[in-house]
Amino acid sequence: MQQLPLFLDLASKSCLIVGGGRIAARKARLLLRAGAGVTIVAPAISEEIAAFDDDRLAIVKAAFEPTMCQGHHLIIAATNLRHVNRQVSGAANHFGIWCNAVDDADLSTAFFPAIVDRSPVTIAVGTGGTSPSLARQIKKQIEAILPSRLGQLARQLGHWRDQVKLARTNPDARKRFWEHVLSGPIARHLLAGRQQEAEQAFQRELNAPGGYSSPGEAYLVGAGPGDAGLLTLHGHQLLAQADVVLYDSLISEEILDFARKDANRVCVGKRPGESYKQAEISRMLVRLVKKGYRVCRLKGGDPFVFGRGGEEAEALAKAGLPFQVVPGITAALGCAASAGIPLTLRGVSSSLRLATAISKGASDPDWQLLAQPGQTLALYMSLGSLNRVVSQLIAHGMPCSTPAAVVENGTKTNQRVLEAELGQIAQVCAEHEAKPPAILFVGEVVAMRICVETQTLWNNMGYLLYPNVLSA
Ligand code: SAH
Repeated sequence: MQQLPLFLDLASKSCLIVGGGRIAARKARLLLRAGAGVTIVAPAISEEIAAFDDDRLAIVKAAFEPTMCQGHHLIIAATNLRHVNRQVSGAANHFGIWCNAVDDADLSTAFFPAIVDRSPVTIAVGTGGTSPSLARQIKKQIEAILPSRLGQLARQLGHWRDQVKLARTNPDARKRFWEHVLSGPIARHLLAGRQQEAEQAFQRELNAPGGYSSPGEAYLVGAGPGDAGLLTLHGHQLLAQADVVLYDSLISEEILDFARKDANRVCVGKRPGESYKQAEISRMLVRLVKKGYRVCRLKGGDPFVFGRGGEEAEALAKAGLPFQVVPGITAALGCAASAGIPLTLRGVSSSLRLATAISKGASDPDWQLLAQPGQTLALYMSLGSLNRVVSQLIAHGMPCSTPAAVVENGTKTNQRVLEAELGQIAQVCAEHEAKPPAILFVGEVVAMRICVETQTLWNNMGYLLYPNVLSA
């Protein structure tokens, strides 16, 4: 190991920064955040430093003298003059004080890592002074995989420490208990922000030394419209934890690969020959969670937008089982972005309606409302009944010339956009054999579509095949 990472408790310890510019200001801010007292020495001080309002900061407007190092715990050479930085580093060494010369590994005995700060959890990434950019890159990757409430989790574990010490005097039993807390529902409650439930589960667990069997949990996760990059961070984290993944048939392999390798994956989507009824899926979900599994119910788009997530949440709630709902990017949003259609636009469209023409068990959509001008329609599952949708809209007063587009396999590499006036869209889709999953957009904004590939604005009402742009 080239360097030893250490965490310094700088509370009320004094540090010296030599230099009065932007970098000095940045280091001062960091040290103050860590509770240190800071002295800045420089003949000239930037406005940024002069504006610092912190009585733990002393400013000395003078040239650096080696004796100024005395009494400090850490020295930072942050001038843009190498000979001054060398002098600072030499003086620090002379007095046996750790020194960091900014961007100069040869003059440094201490190095600032890239920091992931989820206080009280801090993660430091160092590259031995070889590449701060690489350290920042690694830091970003670590940040992306850590739960956002990690700090809260750590604080709460700290609060419980004494209680656990008293209740589990045997060190091995204590260790097992903590492992159980971290891998079970208590940590999950905390990471989901459910403080009260966590406290209750903790007390139950602590007072049941015989081993309390932890209930499972369900995660209703929106996977987005297709592109794996559109899965949310939170969805990714829960998917990566789950013991069982129940997924829809539209979910890509790339997204399923985020699941644990040993997780049990079950496709519950509609597939030729075999398809699960909604009630069966809800029952399966309840049964698995009752058995103690963490079940990720992975759905295309958003679970609560034409996703029947509401029914699954109801079944879980009725059974008294814990669950979380993680939103996803719904098809209307994902497809509009990747097809370049602004869903609302000042002066053109001031509202967006998500609707479907399929209304099993419910009344037909309110065509009068859908045909109103000045809005954008995003019609899900409409390909099968395109002729009916078009004729109803027109019958209720929408002009035949209203711009319309069907986005097929939106956000995926095989995305196609078929564009036409409302009166012709069904014919265009038939000619080009459009297939589900596809969403229909109707409204003046469709004519304002920006071709994302060529960055040009399409306002000619031909129809376009996207990404292979064809005009008719
Ligand atoms: N919960 C999903 C919708 C499920 S209903 C969501 O929020 O997006 C299924 C319908 O969604 C499809 O018939 C289609 O209309 C639309 N859809 C889903 N993914 C799509 C995609 N990648 N491209 C186009 N439409 C899509």
